[in-house]
Amino acid sequence: MTDTAHILVVEDEATQRTMLVDYLTRQGFRATGLSDGAALRRAVQRDEPDLVLLDLGLPGEDGHSLARYLREQHAKVAVIMVTAAGSTVDRIIGLETGADDYIPKPFEPRELLARIKNVLRRAVPATAAVIGSRVPMGRRILDLAQRVLVDPDGVEERLTASEFELLRLFAENPNKPLNREWLLEATSHREAEAFDRAIDLRITRLRRKIEADPAHPDAIRTVRGVGYVFVPPGG
Ligand code: CA
Repeated sequence: MTDTAHILVVEDEATQRTMLVDYLTRQGFRATGLSDGAALRRAVQRDEPDLVLLDLGLPGEDGHSLARYLREQHAKVAVIMVTAAGSTVDRIIGLETGADDYIPKPFEPRELLARIKNVLRRAVPATAAVIGSRVPMGRRILDLAQRVLVDPDGVEERLTASEFELLRLFAENPNKPLNREWLLEATSHREAEAFDRAIDLRITRLRRKIEADPAHPDAIRTVRGVGYVFVPPGG
């Protein structure tokens, strides 16, 4: 990234918040600490950050609700959810509510840094070099420049960074079966098990968004033993 990325650290525990802000600042980011959801909403409306490091357990509005808010109102802002609870169920809920990644406490600062860089890299807008900016996918069109799905009647739906990244990979590789492990590696750095489920859940969610009949997917087809393949309309 050419500009310094701006990261909002939402953490109610003051010592931890200060530590994270100091660490990220030393790593060259612009980091701002916030103690609750109300402060986050005010800050995001004033100046959209590149990424929000979001504590799940907050007084008042919790991390899940705030992640949903960011996804709906500020879809270009990347979200990494931080939580003490490390169960698979919580991980999936974290991703379902729109977080781009998930890190359980306690974590190594270096691991956090790697995830932040990974999420920010994915959030960089697709360049004009990719195949043309509008790609028909199922019953809708993926607009690579605007990072939205467009209905035939022109209505746009915003995508999370991870949803967009998956669809972009498919759009760039039509008719080519994409290996699940490769999709996992290309879209995240999380450990394999949580990962696997997350990819399948994301595919299910994307099929609901683009397939004429999500129960019988035609655009993103399953390739048994391999992964998934994007078949352009009429292909
Ligand atoms: Ca907390």
